[in-house]
Amino acid sequence: MTERVIPLLDQRNRPALVPASAIVPNGLLGDQRGRPLRDLRISVTDRCNFRCNYCMPKEVFDSNYKYLPHSSLLSFEEITRIARLFVAHGVQKLRLTGGEPLLRKNLEVLIEQLALLRTPEGKPLDLTLTTNGSLLRRKAAGLKAAGLQRVTISLDGLDDAIFRAMNDVDFPVADVLDGIEAAKEAGLGQDDKGGFSGLKINMVVKKSTNLSEIIPMARHFRGSGITLRFIEYMDVGETNGWQMDEVLPSADLITLLQTEFPLVPLQASAPGETAQRWGYANDQGVFDPRLGEVGVISSVTQAFCGDCNRARLSTEGQLYLCLFAAQGHDLRSLLRNGASDADIASAIGLIWNQRDDRYSELRGQNLQPQPVPGQKRVEMSYIGG
Ligand code: SAM
Ligand code: SF4
Ligand code: SF4
Repeated sequence: MTERVIPLLDQRNRPALVPASAIVPNGLLGDQRGRPLRDLRISVTDRCNFRCNYCMPKEVFDSNYKYLPHSSLLSFEEITRIARLFVAHGVQKLRLTGGEPLLRKNLEVLIEQLALLRTPEGKPLDLTLTTNGSLLRRKAAGLKAAGLQRVTISLDGLDDAIFRAMNDVDFPVADVLDGIEAAKEAGLGQDDKGGFSGLKINMVVKKSTNLSEIIPMARHFRGSGITLRFIEYMDVGETNGWQMDEVLPSADLITLLQTEFPLVPLQASAPGETAQRWGYANDQGVFDPRLGEVGVISSVTQAFCGDCNRARLSTEGQLYLCLFAAQGHDLRSLLRNGASDADIASAIGLIWNQRDDRYSELRGQNLQPQPVPGQKRVEMSYIGG
């Protein structure tokens, strides 16, 4: 296949090539492993008001750190245009992330634009956002009014001292808990059964820091209508000094939880779903929906690359095919050099067709790709979780 190259503005990323024969979006795109494209995560800022040591350690993300200049960021119109082309290719779920997405000025305007998108079958998208919750008291009602349906809030413990140590900016846990209340009051994530199945809490477990918070967090959210999910601490990026002995395998976490709460495994809610679900059981050992469920995301110990249908768009319009990738594909140059929708859709099609990433699976077999000199794995705060 001959390819036409659109000139590059940013040499740090691979050029996005436009194939000579158009790849017309039909929702049937598959990568080298037959995986469809269903989920697009969009980072709207690389800045954050927290310094979680597993994500943006203070020593690296200090006052000398060079964040992206405003001119590098995709505008809301550019993001919506790209998202629309991804939707034409089969994406059904959009997640806004960062950095801290609520720091992006007028984010509600972007949400309004994205909420108007429809799948080729005419269905609204599953539109959600991941936040550290610090600004939710101020923003929840506006986000809901703009059309945000669901939200995931990161919370690594209830003990104030432990929480402050994890966010490393001395932010009090009470304010995030109040943000969760604000989300509920605004009806974010509320379902038609009166529960909050669209409101999720993510807790990253780092053995040396917040192991003692697992049971209190489970106790707090059990029966609240909100699902708590435990995430294995990952070796993402290059700055967090990751060590395997800081990872609590999800299997051990479930064993720990079962010392206090009987749990039964539940079916995955959708193909490509990252969390394994466990339901709280009643005295008869049967799942009791009133008590709700917990999830475990075992990115390190039980890789789920086999059905990974996620793509990630960085704040400056680079498309990443894996959380552990070192290079993105430069869609922003296409956008800013006047490429047509058909060209951009074809470029996305070609990039996804060629995708073969499965880092966690290979890591599990000790076969992970070795770092290429001069290339660094992308940071979580740059492409979002
Ligand atoms: N600032 C927002 C937040 O914290 O929710 C959104 C961006 S943050 C990068 C997205 C998710 O990635 C959060 O739930 C965070 O806990 C998770 N995360 C960041 N670094 C991680 C790591 N090294 N291992 C596992 N999860 C991580
Ligand atoms: Fe900020 Fe989220 Fe990273 Fe914590 S996990 S530093 S809140 S981007
Ligand atoms: Fe997907 Fe990469 Fe994570 Fe595997 S390691 S599940 S391919 S993002």
